[in-house]
Amino acid sequence: MKRLSIGMRLALWYLAIFLLAEFVFGAGMWFILRKNLYDIADATLEGQAADLERFLEARKDVPTAQLQAEISEDYKIERSEDYLQISDAGGHFIYRSRFFDEHPLPTLSLIQLKKPRYEIRKLGKLPFRILSEKMDINGQFFIVQIGSTLDEEIETLDAFRKYLLMFAPVLLLAASVVGYWLSRKALAPVDALARTARTISGHNLGSRLEQLHTGDELQLLSDTLNEMLARIESAFLRVTEFTADASHELRTPIALIHTEAELALRRSRDECEYREALRHILLEADRTARLIEELLALARADSGSEALDIHPIDLLPTVRESAAKWNQVASLRNLQFEERSGTQPLTVMGDEHALRRVVDILLDNAFKYTPSPGKVTLSAEQKNGRAVVSVEDTGIGIASEDQTIIFERFYRVDKARSRALGGAGLGLAIAQWIVQLHKGSITVKSEPGNGSVFRVELPTITSTIHVDAESR
Ligand code: ADP
Repeated sequence: MKRLSIGMRLALWYLAIFLLAEFVFGAGMWFILRKNLYDIADATLEGQAADLERFLEARKDVPTAQLQAEISEDYKIERSEDYLQISDAGGHFIYRSRFFDEHPLPTLSLIQLKKPRYEIRKLGKLPFRILSEKMDINGQFFIVQIGSTLDEEIETLDAFRKYLLMFAPVLLLAASVVGYWLSRKALAPVDALARTARTISGHNLGSRLEQLHTGDELQLLSDTLNEMLARIESAFLRVTEFTADASHELRTPIALIHTEAELALRRSRDECEYREALRHILLEADRTARLIEELLALARADSGSEALDIHPIDLLPTVRESAAKWNQVASLRNLQFEERSGTQPLTVMGDEHALRRVVDILLDNAFKYTPSPGKVTLSAEQKNGRAVVSVEDTGIGIASEDQTIIFERFYRVDKARSRALGGAGLGLAIAQWIVQLHKGSITVKSEPGNGSVFRVELPTITSTIHVDAESR
């Protein structure tokens, strides 16, 4: 079933609440009016009762038979329309008006009339308000019941109800129109946002939703959506740039392999020349394979599918094994290489293979960008509860404006030089990603011409326990 729109639901809620309020208000007013009308009727009855009491007081010593005659005379002549009945303590009638003769009222005993009693009764199809009370006239008790018709009061109440019922639908209709209009007006900006959002696709990610200045939740919504669009746009741009850069990087070695093979085949050559051509082709093929491996690592990193095998490891053996490998490279390139590591284990939560890759990337760069004679130093130690691995070289250094962007994919300070050295600008991006997955940090300190220091900091297991305990 299709759900109603928010606008429609708001309007219906408005209508329902209005209907309830109207009902409560109408019923409340009706009851108040009725109470007031009955109060007025009661006041009249009480006045009549007071008159009668005075009348009886004036005749307190008169014998019953004479009293009967006097009341009958007085009431029958002067107040022939009255509704009155008087009886003595024994329940014998002293006076009973004609109407009550025809439509008798149930008689009450003295015990039932500790307090005056007010009631509504239907007599001869007419509604009556009846006041029953006992009167103590000089020790003689009378039970007096006086009535008054409620025709006018009921007529007034009926008219009031009629008007209420007549105006209620009109008010309700007006309320539903106003409710719908209000909800449409309140939700109009949402419609506008939805319309614009529908037009945004991969081709116009630069578009933004209309900026609202209402200072309410809708402004918060449009601002939040715009911020989200900005993030999506920059991620989209990064992916597009990455794809363009990756294709470009892949095209270069393939073009080189193609040219080399083509040149070799153009005429017949001796074995030595063929060997040289094949060596070049192999070199480019190796470079391409490495590049593809790096691209795959980054693609897996982006998709989150490259799961690291993280468990407690000692970093020292990893660092030492890497150092042993790079010792040979150092002697080949005529560079000094020193490895400084403490004796205490450096236990971290990590993936051994991935962390070795970080050390290799940093050492590879240090050797690539340090001309002979120079020195590369690898150190691993524990400082302030963190494992610190640093790679220092005396090489060409990095200008301060490049120091933050060298961690971006495909960024190379000197493109030609880096490529000639076999780099595609992906090493540091991969290293940073691995370090971040280990909740660590990677930083660089460098000066052009004065070498560089790359520093990786990782939380050690003891420090993690320490931090946990502190945060508790
Ligand atoms: P590449 O494969 O080109 O070395 P990286 O991402 O590892 O890519 O490094 C990015 C760039 O940072 C390099 O091209 C180089 O310009 C600069 N760089 C990295 N390490 C060093 C270093 N130790 N000394 C000087 N420059 C460096």
